[in-house]
Amino acid sequence: MSAAPRPERLATSAGDRARSADDGTVADLLERARVIARDVAAVYAVEVDREARFPAECLAALKREGLLSAVVPRSLGGAGLSLGEVATICTILGRACASSAMIYAMHVIQVESIVNHRGDVPELDDYLRAVVREQRLIASVTSEVGAGGDLRRSITHVASEPDGGFRLEKAATTSSYCEHADDLLLSARRSADAAPNDQVLVLLPRGDFELHDVGDWNTLGMRGTCSPPARVVGRGADWQILPTPFRDVAAATMVPTSHTLWAAVWLGLAEDACDRARRHLQAKSRKDPDACAMAASRLATLATRLGSMRAMLDRELAVYEARARTDAEAAAEPAAVLATNDLKIAVSEGIVDVVHGAMQVIGIEAYKNEGPLSLGRHLRDAHSAALMINNDRIRSTNADLLLVYKGGLARERA
Ligand SMILES: Cc1cc2nc3c(=O)[nH]c(=O)nc-3n(C[C@H](O)[C@H](O)[C@H](O)COP(=O)(O)OP(=O)(O)OC[C@H]3O[C@@H](n4cnc5c(N)ncnc54)[C@H](O)[C@@H]3O)c2cc1C
Repeated sequence: MSAAPRPERLATSAGDRARSADDGTVADLLERARVIARDVAAVYAVEVDREARFPAECLAALKREGLLSAVVPRSLGGAGLSLGEVATICTILGRACASSAMIYAMHVIQVESIVNHRGDVPELDDYLRAVVREQRLIASVTSEVGAGGDLRRSITHVASEPDGGFRLEKAATTSSYCEHADDLLLSARRSADAAPNDQVLVLLPRGDFELHDVGDWNTLGMRGTCSPPARVVGRGADWQILPTPFRDVAAATMVPTSHTLWAAVWLGLAEDACDRARRHLQAKSRKDPDACAMAASRLATLATRLGSMRAMLDRELAVYEARARTDAEAAAEPAAVLATNDLKIAVSEGIVDVVHGAMQVIGIEAYKNEGPLSLGRHLRDAHSAALMINNDRIRSTNADLLLVYKGGLARERA
């Protein structure tokens, strides 16, 4: 870790908070993540993938080491890690088991959304203290049957109960690890007569929701995320509806943190594929250096590609860190939206090329489903990235923006 003093974060308009972690805490948490990745996530990755089962051992270890509250501000008992720091944890885990890493990333996105948009609701502060104390795992339910991956449109609505509180019911297309989560964070229309994009985020702690009609999750990849369709029936008190409109939560936090943390996971996956190729090539070149020139050149190209994706990620992380957490207006600027979306598209498509390239470097041993050089799981996991909010949807948003946007595309360095 650098010994240079860390700059204090910019305060958010929520009036937050002693949030920055000190260098010792950051180094300690990153080291815990490395140990979990090596001793737990990597050990069970093949079994988790083969059986399409929840990576219970890894999540138990993350809970034990306090990593589920990494982004909760220190003022509420959390570690106060920055998005860049948790992105590093996502990459570390992604190198070992992409399903475990994606579950961690999705959880952090939910925590960050509550932290940034909880307003002055004391019950939400108490809830975040419980996340720290009990290391509660939060799942996300934004996708919906009929709306697909259109984050900004809901069919289901929050129905007020006559004696206070609410009820709701939502059919999700894809609900990762909901059966294993402590709590859900779910998007819905504000009321029965609200427009499809007049949405709120609703927190449903365990006990306030039931899962029905849970379908199968027998997919090509990301099998450990356990993300079947399901119907969620929930009820609760009014404080469980976040005070910030979902439009602003999505713009300021949910979309930028999703695109950055997902990219961090995917880069970890691709880095591991390249590392397997590199180790294989180094061993081979010791025996027969002449036979490796073509493959080494291919590997160098893959490393360049990884480097440019990493640079895009670092830039988006810096942009996120530099603005106030609740500044939906800045986040919704066309240049900002285009850049965040570009990161998602570039990394989700780039990693498929990189893993495929690493397979070509290694050869048949990578094509096998088993063995230390197998890249089957990596390739199958990598193909989920373009579907996780379909790239065509994201491209069409960018296309619409480019047709009307009058400003330049250049953004100043964060
Ligand atoms: C591993 C994994 C885990 C996930 N976990 C969760 C989770 O926990 N919670 C959650 O809510 N979601 C989750 N998702 C996201 C969710 O699965 C998808 O975004 C959502 O289900 C979309 O489903 P779809 O692809 O069938 O539908 P669509 O998004 O409707 O896409 C279907 C097709 O229609 C096209 N299409 C539709 N509308 C447009 C448009 N306007 N412009 C261009 N093309 C369009 C798409 O390009 C695509 O070809 C996860 C996804 C993956 C891969």
